[in-house]
Amino acid sequence: MEVRYTRTMIHRDALNARVMAAMRKVPRHKFVDPDMLDKAYYDGPLPIGCGQTISQPFIVALMTDLAGVEEGDKVLEIGTGSGYQTAILAELVKQVYSIEIISELGEQACKCLQQLGYTNVETRIGDGHEGWEEEAPFDAVVVTAAADAIPPRLIEQLKPRGRLIIPVGPAYSHQELIVVEKDDKGNISQWSALGVVFVPLTGGH
Ligand code: SAH
Repeated sequence: MEVRYTRTMIHRDALNARVMAAMRKVPRHKFVDPDMLDKAYYDGPLPIGCGQTISQPFIVALMTDLAGVEEGDKVLEIGTGSGYQTAILAELVKQVYSIEIISELGEQACKCLQQLGYTNVETRIGDGHEGWEEEAPFDAVVVTAAADAIPPRLIEQLKPRGRLIIPVGPAYSHQELIVVEKDDKGNISQWSALGVVFVPLTGGH
């Protein structure tokens, strides 16, 4: 449904079939607060504590699709939050690295991902502005909090032909979901897929 409304903006008539299969497979209710269980499958964001939210399912699917991930890929996520987007990526690629700045959320997500049996995920607590130097470069980087400007390290840590998906704009105001592509020669191009609202990317100072 959301794809139909937004298809001219997102340049797609439908989302990738592997992405949609992962969306059907990952139990979203395991990633939401127990008192939100009845809303786990509603197509909107939900609070996950510490003033943060688990993204709307459509946005998770769209960002994953835009990241163009393939089975053998190594992917970096910034903003682990509940771990839901992490799990979707883990279904689709070889290895996911995910960074969360709030330790309480990062630790809880790590436990949840372990309980669900994901062995191809590494999480850490830290500031995503720096990326994950030791594991770089990445086939794709997915940022799930809005930045004022694209952190340069994240572009540096992309492989040639890599893609960075990041909401850019002021906190809780109009933000654009930006797709940054690095070509074979390392040249960068970018386009905006959609207007979005994400919690802010903090840190970076
Ligand atoms: N992908 C998450 C969405 C969580 S909301 C999910 O599916 O649930 C965005 C998350 O980004 C929050 O948990 C927030 O704490 C985290 N965040 C904000 N700034 C960050 C930074 N500089 N580095 C890492 N994580 C950050």
